[in-house]
Amino acid sequence: MRGRLPIDGPLRREGEEPPEGGGGPGGGHALNRRGSKERVWRGGGVRTEQSRRDEELARSARLPQQGAARQAGSAPRRSDAMAAPPVAIGSFPRAMIHIDADAFFASVEQARNPELRGRPVITGKERNIVASMSYEAKALGIQRGTPLNEVKRICPEAVLLPSDYETYSLLSKRFFSIVRRYTPDVEEYGIDECFADITGMRRPLKMSYPRIAAAIKEELDTSFGFTFSTGLAPNKTVAKIASKWKKPSGLTVIPGRDIHRYLAGMPVEKVWGIGPHTTAYLNKLGIRTALEFAQKDEGWVQERFSKPFYETWRELNGYSAIGLETEEKETYASIQKVKTFTPPSSDPEFVFAQLSKNVENATMKARRYHLAAHRAICFLKTQDYRGDGAEMRFSRATAFPHEIIRAMEPVFRRLFDPRERYRSTGVVLFKLIDDTITQPDLFGVTARIERVAKVYEAADGIRVKYGKHTLFLGSSFYAHSFAQHLGERGDVPERREDLFKGETARQRLGIPMFLGEVK
Ligand SMILES: [Mg+2]
Repeated sequence: MRGRLPIDGPLRREGEEPPEGGGGPGGGHALNRRGSKERVWRGGGVRTEQSRRDEELARSARLPQQGAARQAGSAPRRSDAMAAPPVAIGSFPRAMIHIDADAFFASVEQARNPELRGRPVITGKERNIVASMSYEAKALGIQRGTPLNEVKRICPEAVLLPSDYETYSLLSKRFFSIVRRYTPDVEEYGIDECFADITGMRRPLKMSYPRIAAAIKEELDTSFGFTFSTGLAPNKTVAKIASKWKKPSGLTVIPGRDIHRYLAGMPVEKVWGIGPHTTAYLNKLGIRTALEFAQKDEGWVQERFSKPFYETWRELNGYSAIGLETEEKETYASIQKVKTFTPPSSDPEFVFAQLSKNVENATMKARRYHLAAHRAICFLKTQDYRGDGAEMRFSRATAFPHEIIRAMEPVFRRLFDPRERYRSTGVVLFKLIDDTITQPDLFGVTARIERVAKVYEAADGIRVKYGKHTLFLGSSFYAHSFAQHLGERGDVPERREDLFKGETARQRLGIPMFLGEVK
């Protein structure tokens, strides 16, 4: 749902002269949906009763938490913004909250294992790159995506853990359900962040908007044992800016009339929804800061940018233009199947069969939980710990291995290098949805899906009765017809990446190695 605008009226910006006569469009008044007049206040203009009330609200919005941010020197001072507000439309014509868990995965690990508190904790061990890091690790300069070898060099005392997406996803659901106690309008924006529209909740909750934001944050912080950064603003774009303003554990309130002060020094690429291409274009047009963009004319923006950027521009001007998507159908769990095999292989058929077997196992699990995946990642790992993977997107969610394997074939051909020797393959299913949600369609796709589903249902029944690998797809044949490991796996020593004398990355001594997690 888009375009829920609190005020239908002309947008004005600082420095723009109102037309003669006043009253009409641009005469300093904008009509809102309820038909009441609201003064468009620009710095020194005359203020109406409405804008006085808004100001009072904005004053009451200054919470101690925000004061702390100011003391820390992170919030802008009045002098930072040379300009008056692009458009001032009161404090909270809508009240939108954005909440972002601080270092979510690492925080979960620290919360469930108190021994890890205060220590640099890193998750992502299964992929050999940093997926999430605690603030202790961040302080040492470790960033998301850093290879773990690098981490060990920078910070030998770091605690490296495999991701436990199942737990993260369960806690994520809990996070959203706590926020839903305060308002039904919650958008689960990511595994560790959400938007919540609390417009109209002051009376039922008997709290001001900033108090509601503080109460949600407090409840989250205490029930999880780690912190959530929270921002309150008149719309999603500015709420995002607010939650990011002070991290970790910030609570930042940006009333409509203060937005410009936050935008003044902010590079335009920091604004939610403005990517590198748009940034490059904006820079060419001489726009560097979010405020410079916000202060452009409405017509100027509409002429040059598509609707999403126009909506962003409106939000930077204090309006609420981007609606919430409050459906709760997607789970953030992912299903991962990784298998190593010994000896390493450079036989494409065998390696593909391994991948295919992983897909079969992953989809079997998905079907057991009545889930289907919109996306999947497949990856290959070479014997010297290097990995290469690619993401696949499906036009509809699926838990049928033959569909995923078909999509995977060209991806595999691209990833596979016959000069390499591969050691393990893996597949991750994610963007999982409840597979009971089916949409009727015109071309009989639903009917076909139901028929295929029956086939898999029967196959799954046979597997339950006679064993997991009684039935498998032809594409997995080579993986089933050879042992996963030659020799006893328990004897396989784990080895670091360094090479022995006489070895090259591809030609190594015949010492078996072990790589990655086997589930
Ligand atoms: Mg976060």
